[in-house]
Amino acid sequence: MKTSKTLLSLIIPCALAFSTADAIAEVNRVETVAPGVYFHEGDIGRKGHCNNGWIVFDDYVLVVDGNFPSGAQEVIPKIKATTDKPIRFAFDTHHHGDHAYGNQIWLETGATPVAHVGVLEEMKKYETGYFGGKPGRWEDTANNRKDVAASKLKPPTLMFTKDMVFDDGKLRVELHHFGVAHTRGDGFAWLPEERILFTGDACVNGPYNFMGDGHTGEWVKTLEAARKLGPKTICPGHGPMGGSEVLDDQIAFITELRNEVKKLVEAGAKPAEVKAAAAMIQETLRKNDRLARYLGTSFDGQVEKVYREMGGEAFPANTPN
Ligand SMILES: [Zn+2]
Repeated sequence: MKTSKTLLSLIIPCALAFSTADAIAEVNRVETVAPGVYFHEGDIGRKGHCNNGWIVFDDYVLVVDGNFPSGAQEVIPKIKATTDKPIRFAFDTHHHGDHAYGNQIWLETGATPVAHVGVLEEMKKYETGYFGGKPGRWEDTANNRKDVAASKLKPPTLMFTKDMVFDDGKLRVELHHFGVAHTRGDGFAWLPEERILFTGDACVNGPYNFMGDGHTGEWVKTLEAARKLGPKTICPGHGPMGGSEVLDDQIAFITELRNEVKKLVEAGAKPAEVKAAAAMIQETLRKNDRLARYLGTSFDGQVEKVYREMGGEAFPANTPN
């Protein structure tokens, strides 16, 4: 068992200026982003965890992202190693399991889950089991994850429609909704003084873009609205934190993906032809150093999603020989 002394040794201060090259890819370590502001890169590869942030106000702690239950359990002692202030609020950046299924754990520790109203709307759509319908995503996930099976879904109960402000006169955190992006309920946490932006999965730093619940065209507009804030430090939903280039590269990835698919749509390509072209699009994007790190195994699904948004039909299933 870890003592708080060993936990404190995990807290490493780091400079405010980053470049992608020296982004700190240290999973499960606490990084001090600014006085009273912390970032923790979750272990997505082995545990499916999201990143967390927390802001220590005079009288309480605001946590960014609910994580899975096991992710919340992992980060709570690390938060307690940085402060003895009570954890009062857990901000779900969106409704996905790795960002919101830990809400029960936060409630047990005394924190209220906070989110944009769209998070509850998305949960009503996908968490049908909770709302009295057939089993939904929670039940599916509980079949594969012990931490979820041992917990309960707790939708956020404190919500905002456009923004919400936490300000104790020393630190200020603004929660913003800029429109549809990764989901229809994405929220950002913005520290205007320190120019730190916590983005949830609206912005990731690596091959972690899941596009199934959002709209890529709207996503770009939403990220451009976030970029107008002028952030210096980006704390993404997955992957290491970095400078403003993380946001620029995420915008460039979605934009270039859309441009490549659009060329095929304009040429009248059929679903099977677009599907066949996905590998070629991937190689085109890979040649761009800024975009290569976003390419992953779900690329075909990303191409199909964009194609369907542009009016195309679903890709044909693989035909058996
Ligand atoms: Zn997500």
